[in-house]
Amino acid sequence: MSGLNLAQQEAVNYLHGPCLVLAGAGSGKTRVITHKIARLIQTGVAPQRIAAITFTNKAAAEMRERAKGLIGRDANKVVVCTFHALGVRMMREDGAVLGLKPAFSILDSDDVTKILKDAGGTTDAATARIWQWTISKWKNMGLTAAQAEAQAADDNERITARIMARYEERLTAYQSVDFDDLIGMPLKLLQDHEEVRAKWQAALGHVLVDEYQDTNATQYEVLKALVGMRGRFTAVGDDDQSIYGWRGATLDNLRKLPVDFPTLKVIKLEQNYRSTSAILRAANNVIGPNPKLFPKTLFSELGEGEPVRVVDADHEQHEAERAVARIVSLRSSDSVTQGPQFKEFRDFAILYRANHQARVFEQALRKAQIPYKVSGGQSFFDRAEIKDLCGWFRLWVNNDDDPAFLRAVTTPKRGIGHTTLAGLGTFASQYKLSLFEALFSSSLPSVMAKRAMEGLHEFGRYINDLEYRARRTLGAEDARAFLNDWLKEIEYEKHLYDGEDSEQAAASRWTNVMEFCDWMAQRCGGKVSDPSGATTDTEAKTLLEVAQTISLLSTISEREQDQNVVTLSTLHASKGLEWPHVMLIGVNEGLLPFKLDDGGGRQQKVSDDTLQRLQEERRLMYVGITRAQRSLAVSWTKRRKQGREMVPAQPSRFISEMALDQKTVKEDPREKLKALRAEFARKAQQNAAAAAAAQAAPAP
Ligand code: ATP
Ligand code: MG
Repeated sequence: MSGLNLAQQEAVNYLHGPCLVLAGAGSGKTRVITHKIARLIQTGVAPQRIAAITFTNKAAAEMRERAKGLIGRDANKVVVCTFHALGVRMMREDGAVLGLKPAFSILDSDDVTKILKDAGGTTDAATARIWQWTISKWKNMGLTAAQAEAQAADDNERITARIMARYEERLTAYQSVDFDDLIGMPLKLLQDHEEVRAKWQAALGHVLVDEYQDTNATQYEVLKALVGMRGRFTAVGDDDQSIYGWRGATLDNLRKLPVDFPTLKVIKLEQNYRSTSAILRAANNVIGPNPKLFPKTLFSELGEGEPVRVVDADHEQHEAERAVARIVSLRSSDSVTQGPQFKEFRDFAILYRANHQARVFEQALRKAQIPYKVSGGQSFFDRAEIKDLCGWFRLWVNNDDDPAFLRAVTTPKRGIGHTTLAGLGTFASQYKLSLFEALFSSSLPSVMAKRAMEGLHEFGRYINDLEYRARRTLGAEDARAFLNDWLKEIEYEKHLYDGEDSEQAAASRWTNVMEFCDWMAQRCGGKVSDPSGATTDTEAKTLLEVAQTISLLSTISEREQDQNVVTLSTLHASKGLEWPHVMLIGVNEGLLPFKLDDGGGRQQKVSDDTLQRLQEERRLMYVGITRAQRSLAVSWTKRRKQGREMVPAQPSRFISEMALDQKTVKEDPREKLKALRAEFARKAQQNAAAAAAAQAAPAP
């Protein structure tokens, strides 16, 4: 119980019924969850019967680490994961009752767009993405295609509903699910199959949910079905940090809890342990105008701290330069903090509204040789083209990998349509064969058209041939040649150019492919020569051996180690995290809040929709501010790029809403000068020390 205040202790000790911890940012909600895991184990609940649900995989990894710190190795047995990962687990174990193979594949958003293009008969990705959005929304509401059609408001929706029906057929044929299914299908399992429900309710002794305010309606139903009447769960959340409304998250889930669970114990936390008073005040001022679901107060005992700064830059590049200057000066100054110094690169974060804003800052950081990572962006292994290649590699290694089979056989298209694949799929599940095995079965031709058979056999033989060649391809040079030949054979470059709206996008994908192939080839060892012509000789591996380890690699990206680098992140991806020094950038009207049609807040009458969006943007600003522990700077630019032109830009209304003290808003230039001088002196000292050390060192 050490390190918990009374209210936190109360939440941790409340073990036998439904519990909601509702509190503002940085008040120790997540800490309650980790400590409660430990407490539950201490009272005799087996670790594998505890499920802690987080919002992202990264948050799950972090929570597991923290739990390990409290309870040691037992933490590895606790189910710590996202709703989606829990869904995968449930479907692997029990999906068979819904007609799903345990090796079903999970489609990412790009896969879905592709299938929808096909199902809706369009080549236009933008149209397909609109369908995707609508279908996802319906799925999150628990609607089937038929139900969606029945309640369609107009022709557009009716058409989308019909495309949804075709889309669902294809998913079944491919033994595939999309992200929404990872929630919807487990719910179906729990609701329609009593034995499955009983099993899971018995399996889980207590369910804990972090970031509860950002769950959607289906997730809430899953939670309810998982905990049953006993309602042994702990949800923690903050209605002021609900920032995924645009993706279907709903605060109704908070409203409904006390109604659905009349014995719900509600605990409020009021002390913020994260931020200084100056930062917390700015946060409270910003969130003030939003309507309150539950009244909350937050105070900090960390002292007033440095004033929050506002930086006005001329344009993006200038803004990035000033951010870099701030990092350099904070790292070198000694006036900022007593106690721990918070001067490592990892102590800094630059947060922004939209992914594209990172680029200019990346350039500036690189120029200043400051190491950084971009989080919340796409990882290399998540790119569609890399996944395509990995699909093929996986199939060479393991012919029974059905998801990989489906990816390879349809990318690039080789005239094997979804009817053929559906037929093959049915046949395969009937005889309990993998798709690859089924293809060579002697009884398949009796249920399959001759032309379809020929196509399938040709593909099967080609895979066998590739496998044979890959097994004999030894060393980097051969591997590179092999990969080149193969890409030519399947006409992959053409496939990229056909599939992309712009040539530039296709070219950039192709560059990624080349890079990935080089990387694969290098791993095959042997004689490897670098661009300067120097060669090194290492043990040569076959391409097949290297391909075998690829699927392990895609999981590396998930577990970013705690590198000592500056974080660049979207505001959305920064949720739940904290840094000593935070810079919110691009705090301009039109960016944060993002494009609202209310005349920059001057318009008196606005639509409900606009108002709700404004409120969500305000919560996003609140999330951003409350990530900061010791120092916060908010910057905006006087001019902004619009298309090719530079146009005048306005500071965000949220800056004035922070109600900062105008006397302290700007950094004191003298202080900065002092800091830079100190940095200069430190460097000079370092150089002198290095020179002295070099002189003192014995000759090699
Ligand atoms: P958010 O709303 O941003 O998700 P949170 O409510 O989950 O925040 P935590 O991340 O759990 O808050 O805690 C914020 C910080 O305060 C962490 O660094 C945590 O270690 C610290 N903290 C929480 N409770 C206490 C406590 N009782 N004593 C000391 N430090 C605490
Ligand atoms: Mg938290």
